[in-house]
Amino acid sequence: NLTQRLTRTLDRLRGQGRLTEDNIRDTLREVRMALLEADVALPVVRAFIERVRERALGQEVTRSLTPGQALVKIVHDELVAVMGGAAEGLRLAVEPPAVILLAGLQGAGKTTTAAKLARLLRERERRSVMLASCDVYRPAAIDQLRTLAAELGVPFHEPGGTRDAVAIAREALAEARRRVADVLVVDTAGRLHVDEAMMAEVQALHAALNPAETLFVVDAMSGQDAANAARAFGAALPLTGVILTKADGDARGGAALSVRHITGRPVKFLGVGERSDALEPFDPARMASRILGMGDVLSLVEEVQRKVDRDKAEKLARKVRKGEGFDLEDFRDQLEQMSRMGGVAALLDKLPGAASLPEGVRAQMDDRELRRVIAIINSMTPRERRRPDIINGSRKRRIAAGSGTRVQDVNRLLKQFHQAQKLMKRMRRKGGMRNLLRGLGPGL
Ligand code: GDP
Ligand code: MG
Repeated sequence: NLTQRLTRTLDRLRGQGRLTEDNIRDTLREVRMALLEADVALPVVRAFIERVRERALGQEVTRSLTPGQALVKIVHDELVAVMGGAAEGLRLAVEPPAVILLAGLQGAGKTTTAAKLARLLRERERRSVMLASCDVYRPAAIDQLRTLAAELGVPFHEPGGTRDAVAIAREALAEARRRVADVLVVDTAGRLHVDEAMMAEVQALHAALNPAETLFVVDAMSGQDAANAARAFGAALPLTGVILTKADGDARGGAALSVRHITGRPVKFLGVGERSDALEPFDPARMASRILGMGDVLSLVEEVQRKVDRDKAEKLARKVRKGEGFDLEDFRDQLEQMSRMGGVAALLDKLPGAASLPEGVRAQMDDRELRRVIAIINSMTPRERRRPDIINGSRKRRIAAGSGTRVQDVNRLLKQFHQAQKLMKRMRRKGGMRNLLRGLGPGL
């Protein structure tokens, strides 16, 4: 994942005051790989990397940041900027009924999204909505929307005898006017691949309906194909926005960047499930983190910078790196730093991959426990902290009494310490994690 790869290259950038072509090359290569892995289309990746390079070069690095961290921030901020800054809602301030036209390939999720939009507009914006389907090629498609509309209790335009998509659209619009609906959501037919007949039809629908919103619906999982479809639909229609569906799957989100770049239109919503309530406003910052695969590493970087004594952290990291003994003093330092950063849970939640830690490790370490453990270590002699193996029964009783705890608590602490020691050894062997921690501050 990118975090690991980045931190590896970040390390090389330490202690350099300015970003140069030379010291960002490796990191940019890793960013490029990560974007490709996230299914961002190649031309989009190239353009993006170029933008980042331009912004980064010559930039001074403030003393509290390593150049690598500064570069990660630039990459992230640029991703957010390219994807549109703040989330954008629907623009329906026209004479009602405001028409929303959905276009996209077959299976993209148009019909499902039509129902989701109807529900969202009714429940969150208190608008009266009508649904219509112009998918005349597959009777099942019209049934599908009719069923969804009935489930939601939203009026559905029943097509008359006509088999012509544009005629249905006109009738639906007339009915929406008669019913004084605020919004008419129009579902259209898609094909499996872009073809001229489909484009001609959706263009004719656009002309007949004069929609307030013309939304391109695209499957987040479709990867590179999303870029091709976006290019074709963007060329055929004056799109006003994009809805990215199936973002609940393991798509890395690269389609969001590609489609935004190619159409120049904002992604407005994410489909996050099959149910009619599974539609979320698009959040560029969250998507940027997802594309980079770095959990919430950026905010972690910020917190560490604010709160951790860098020198101490580096000393510890050096020690761990050299494989020197990790003793109870180090353990206490770590715990104190964790406590300053909002406790273990807060810290772990921000680390990618932390979810895989055993539940027990997380549960054992709430904040009260953290303070108790620190108190116990404080009641030990320096020699005991350096060589915990000398802590026998009578020493345990003394330590427990001194820290206002029980012997069981001392035993538990020693067990936790041994676990942490093992963890340190394991991380020493696994470069990525160690480097991540070295880059961010204290060892975990
Ligand atoms: P259309 O051909 O563009 O109208 O696509 P449909 O609306 O019929 O959706 C195709 C399939 O994708 C259906 O099985 C939907 O349930 C599923 N689907 C649509 N949107 C989402 C989504 O956001 N998440 C998930 N997991 N499935 C979705
Ligand atoms: Mg459909």
